[in-house]
Amino acid sequence: MLDQPPLTNLQTRDVESLIHPYTPLHKLKSTGTLIMQRGEGVHVFDTQGRGYIEGMSGLWCAGLGFGDEEMIEAATEQLRTLPYYHIFSAKSIEPAIELAEKLKEIAPVPISKVFFTSSGSEANDTQVKLAWYMNNARGRPNKKKIISRIKAYHGVTVMSASLTGLPGNHNGWDLPVDRVLHTDCPHFYRFGAEGESEAEFTARMAKSLRELIEREGPDTIAAMIAEPVMGAGGVIVPPKGYFEAIQAVLDEHDIILISDEVITGFGRTGNWWGSQTLNMKPKTISTAKQLTSAYAPLGAVMVPEDIYQSYVDHSAQLGTFGHGFTYGGHPLGCALGVKAIEIYQKRDIIGHVRKLMPLFESRMKRLAEHPLVGEARYCGFVGGAELVADKKTRRPFDPKQGVGPQTAKLIENNGAVLRAIGDTIAICPPMIIREDELNELFDRFEKGLNEAE
Ligand code: PLP
Repeated sequence: MLDQPPLTNLQTRDVESLIHPYTPLHKLKSTGTLIMQRGEGVHVFDTQGRGYIEGMSGLWCAGLGFGDEEMIEAATEQLRTLPYYHIFSAKSIEPAIELAEKLKEIAPVPISKVFFTSSGSEANDTQVKLAWYMNNARGRPNKKKIISRIKAYHGVTVMSASLTGLPGNHNGWDLPVDRVLHTDCPHFYRFGAEGESEAEFTARMAKSLRELIEREGPDTIAAMIAEPVMGAGGVIVPPKGYFEAIQAVLDEHDIILISDEVITGFGRTGNWWGSQTLNMKPKTISTAKQLTSAYAPLGAVMVPEDIYQSYVDHSAQLGTFGHGFTYGGHPLGCALGVKAIEIYQKRDIIGHVRKLMPLFESRMKRLAEHPLVGEARYCGFVGGAELVADKKTRRPFDPKQGVGPQTAKLIENNGAVLRAIGDTIAICPPMIIREDELNELFDRFEKGLNEAE
C-alpha cells in the first residue's frame, strides 16, 4: 500500500461536494483526488505545483496538449461573436456549416451529412436511434438489434452503456437494454485458444459473429458498432484481417458497420481515422474527443447520402426529424473543431505522429520485456501494457489486489499521468509530444513499473 498523506483543504471540499466518475467512491475519503490547476504543452500541474507529463491526453482527447494559443484565440473570437446559438428548427450557424464541410472532406468513406452532439456517448446513442429510424423509414421495423463486442466502450448513456461490453458499466445499472447483442472480443493474447494461429482466431471471430446473426435472424439486426482499436476496454488491437473478415459477414446479411472513432479519429493511429489504419469500411462514423482536441465538448455522427435520404423520407411522413441536443453544434465547439482540423493540417500533426511512431513502438517493445508485463500492445500513438502475475502462463493478478491502479499511482508519483484499465496501463500522449518528452514519459512509466515489482 502507498502512504497516504492527510487530505488538503481543497481535497476535503472536493470529496464533500463532487460525485467522481469512474472512481471507487468508498475509498475517496481516504485517498482524496489529484487536483489539477493548469496545463502547458504536454504538461499539467497540480495545486501543489507538481508537474506531470499528461500521458493520456486527459481522457484520450487533448491531442494538441494544453494552452495552444491559436485554439484560445479561436475560442475567444467565437465567444465574442456568438457565444451560443442552435441549429434546431431550420436555424444554423457558420461554424457548424464549416466544420461539417471539413469533416466531409477528410472522412475515410463517402459522407454527405453530419449530425452534431455534445459527446461521444450522445453520438453513439444517436447512431442507434438513427439506425432504428432508417429501418422504420425503409419499412423494416423488425431490423433493430445492434451488435457490439465484449470489452467495447461506447459511452455511458443508457443505450451507449448497453453497447459497452464491460461488466463495470452493466453490473448494478440494470443494463444492457434489450436489442443489444455482444459478440467476441478480438484479443488474441487473452482469448486465442491453445495452439491457434492469429489467422485461425480471426476466422473463429467471424464464424462466431455469423452464428450470432443466424441465431438471432439477420432480419432483426440493424448494425454492428466497433472501435477500430478498443480503448477503454484495455487498448485492444485486433489481428490483421479481422475487420475484413467481420465486414464480409455483415455485408452478407445487410447489417451496417458503425465505426466508433471517438478515440481513434484525427491522427491517433497514424492516419486521420482508425478505420483507415485497420482497414474498415464503415457506413457511418461516430467521433468526439480530438474533434476539438478537447478544448470544448463536441461529438459528431457522419452518414452517407443514401442513409440521409431515409431520414428525409421518414421526416416527410412524420413532419419533423425529432432528435437534437441543445448543445449539439454549439458555436464554441464547432469553431474549435474547425481550428483543430486546420492545425492538424497546417502543422502536419499526423506526419509528426508518424515520425515518432517507431520510437513509440520501440519503447512499447521494451516495456514488453519487463517482468511484470504480459503483453504490450499499441497502434500508432496509443498503447497498453498488461500487467500479469505470471509472464509465462499469462496468469492475471487477482483484480482485488488492485495492481494496475497502484502501479498507475507509482507512475504518477514519478511525474507521468497514465491510466489503469484493470491491470492494463494505458498510454495515449498528446500528439504534439516531442521526441525527448516521449522518451521521458516512457522513462517515468518504467520507473513506476520497477517500483511496483
Ligand atoms: N466511444 C469511445 C470509443 C470512447 O472511448 C468514449 C469515451 O471514452 C466514448 C465513446 C464516450 O464518449 P464521451 O465520454 O464523450 O461520452
